[in-house]
Amino acid sequence: MTTSTTRTELDAQTLWRQDRDHFIHPFTDYSTFHEQGCDLITDSDGIYVQDAHGNRFIDGIAGLWCVNVGHGRAEIGQAMADQATRMAYFSTFNNLSNAPAAELAAKLSELAPAHLNHVFYSCGGSAANDATIRLVHYYFNRLGKPNKKRIISRNNAYHGTTYMAATLTGIASNNWEFDTLEHLVTHLSEANCYRRPEGMSEAEYCDHLVAEFEATVERIGADNIAAFIAEPIMGAGGVLVAPEGYHARMQAVCRANDILFIADEVVTGFGRLGHFFASEKVFDTQPDIINCAKGLSSGYAPLGATLISDELFEVLGTPQGKGGVLSTGFTYSGHPVSCAAALKNIEIIEREGICKNVREVGPYLEERLKTLSHHATVGDVRGSHFMMCLENVADKATKELLPVEARVGDRVAFEAQQRGLIIRPVGHLNIVSPPLIWTRDTIDRVVDILDEAFGAATRTLREDGFL
Ligand code: PMP
Repeated sequence: MTTSTTRTELDAQTLWRQDRDHFIHPFTDYSTFHEQGCDLITDSDGIYVQDAHGNRFIDGIAGLWCVNVGHGRAEIGQAMADQATRMAYFSTFNNLSNAPAAELAAKLSELAPAHLNHVFYSCGGSAANDATIRLVHYYFNRLGKPNKKRIISRNNAYHGTTYMAATLTGIASNNWEFDTLEHLVTHLSEANCYRRPEGMSEAEYCDHLVAEFEATVERIGADNIAAFIAEPIMGAGGVLVAPEGYHARMQAVCRANDILFIADEVVTGFGRLGHFFASEKVFDTQPDIINCAKGLSSGYAPLGATLISDELFEVLGTPQGKGGVLSTGFTYSGHPVSCAAALKNIEIIEREGICKNVREVGPYLEERLKTLSHHATVGDVRGSHFMMCLENVADKATKELLPVEARVGDRVAFEAQQRGLIIRPVGHLNIVSPPLIWTRDTIDRVVDILDEAFGAATRTLREDGFL
């Protein structure tokens, strides 16, 4: 590890208690948390992280789909320190700006599809999506179309947890006992090729999904719909790759009905699918807006960005009423330290050919993970490049799920962690979304560990009577 020495046991115990007693963790199961407490991760380097007891793990989730360039990049730390020392913070309201925010906005405009040349900054993915919907509503208000308010999202989508972003999110369990802004959002079916209706080809399934969108537009009325938002590959909802041509056809429906097309590239951006942005290069779409976060700064500092087309900006940036003030934004919009981290992160991605590494090594990760299909629970191995998922089932023929109490995703993740690899359990799924610097050798080691982990999990499932 390049960072500080490992913490002592006493330190670890004190921190464990402080954490359990005072830190409200996001997305944490409070039926077990008070007993189990946290795993304190204290150090990191390259593809590894280390806990407070000195156990070292391969990071199979890039932190949370975000540490794209890997851990312990001293030059990002240095760029942040230099910026923090020189000028850590100043407002970007009222014509003020700072050097990293300006430089990064220009760099993002260069990297994004040609028509996206304007950047609105936020502090993460949820805030980027939330700010986007406000801007979209403002845009249509200014065009004299105030009824165009409804946003079309999809079941199982994940767009964040601020109020609006949580409403866009279509994972039912995420909003359990929470309220949403239902009147603003309609959810379509997700594109789930593995669980598509029996007997339907992938092409027919695509027709079916597009027809559902068209029927929804017909029902609600294009005059009432502002935008369609989608992740190019659905992430937290199960790494669902849509059928061939789906996104381009959904975009065509948008274009035909004066509906804006928003791509949430919070996960797919910055190299995970082998390009800075997947929308145009992989999915042949030209979104009106692309949102990004996570890999934008590789998680070294909180940052989100909304990339807006020239056409939209012409309306958003045209003075009118109230002195022409665009009255939205955050204290930390364009935070200089976060923007400095992002600039250095992008420099590393370009200098080290990280997108190329993903394009070359990604198919090997897909191929090797598919070899795990022989395990009793592995019903589907899917995804693309460095965004992969294994779906566990009770019965491969019927695709029936194991009961929730079997906690199959947790079991596999636990067994992997015992063997030195952290992957992410989401219900019955196991997600693999590593730093983009994995090599073929790393992948071989990871697949060996996963082979053992699935084997061990299968044994305990049998012992406990679930299989
Ligand atoms: N959009 C997508 C596609 C995401 O995966 C996430 C986070 N996993 C978000 C938005 C929300 O980002 P954040 O947690 O930074 O608010």
